[in-house]
Amino acid sequence: MTDYAGLLKQGTAGLEKAGVEDIELNARELLGKALGINCRSRDFDAALSRQIDPQVQMEFENLCKRRTEGEPLQYLVGEWEFYGLTFKVGEGVLIPRQDTETVVDTVLKKAPKDRKLTVADLCTGSGCIAMALEKHLDCRQLIGVELSDKALGFLQHNIKLNDSKMQVLKGDVTLKQTAQQLPVCDVITANPPYLTRRDMENLQKEVTFEPRSALYGGDDGLDFYRHIVINFKDRIKPGGFFAFEIGAGMEEDVMTILVRHGFENVRASRDACGIFRCVTGYKK
Ligand code: GLN
Repeated sequence: MTDYAGLLKQGTAGLEKAGVEDIELNARELLGKALGINCRSRDFDAALSRQIDPQVQMEFENLCKRRTEGEPLQYLVGEWEFYGLTFKVGEGVLIPRQDTETVVDTVLKKAPKDRKLTVADLCTGSGCIAMALEKHLDCRQLIGVELSDKALGFLQHNIKLNDSKMQVLKGDVTLKQTAQQLPVCDVITANPPYLTRRDMENLQKEVTFEPRSALYGGDDGLDFYRHIVINFKDRIKPGGFFAFEIGAGMEEDVMTILVRHGFENVRASRDACGIFRCVTGYKK
């Protein structure tokens, strides 16, 4: 084994032995990281026939080892793609997931296109929902609300990376005073923590590396929906709407919370796997 193609093969075999899923993708991403070359670029394929630099080999083998120990691929790579944009990620911030693109798709379908919008994204984390919306909507103002200092660090970086105009409000969405600092919005989105106590006891190894504060939504997983609807319902214009990401099987409960607080035309939309993933409701 003298070239990177050989090293890649060896790394792939190691990941397979450890039971990692998607071994080819993982190995390519990690070799790309070690080489400092995006593995989806042509340069990467060209590099595969090059002679191995021992420094790169060491780095690659170290990354593969950490991956077999459960560290998420996205944290090891340090950035991840969401809705065609790149986000810096690492320990302390929730990894952008493909499921969450359903929230963006749903909002883009429902949001008015004929005027400038005021949009807030609660529990914004990396800022992935907010910045994806910003690229496709005409936003007068876009605000991301986040509590965790670690997540805020990634968020600030991502704002620069994506040349975003989003504003950041540090605050706890379970407190009314946070809502009082927001303007009245056309759309409020949130992917709040929604895992139940049971879910937290059965987390996939990779997910245990992600911040608990971004995952745990109380015993039944619904705490944040209750707080958000109560605290922020007055921060939506008449005719404006909430769009929430939800966990599998939560649609009835989250829709009920919205209906109880007077929201209309409450609907759930499915993700690419056919699971209800986004709930929306309009302010009267
Ligand atoms: N979708 C995440 C998971 O299943 C949970 C994120 C959240 O609670 N918002 O791991």
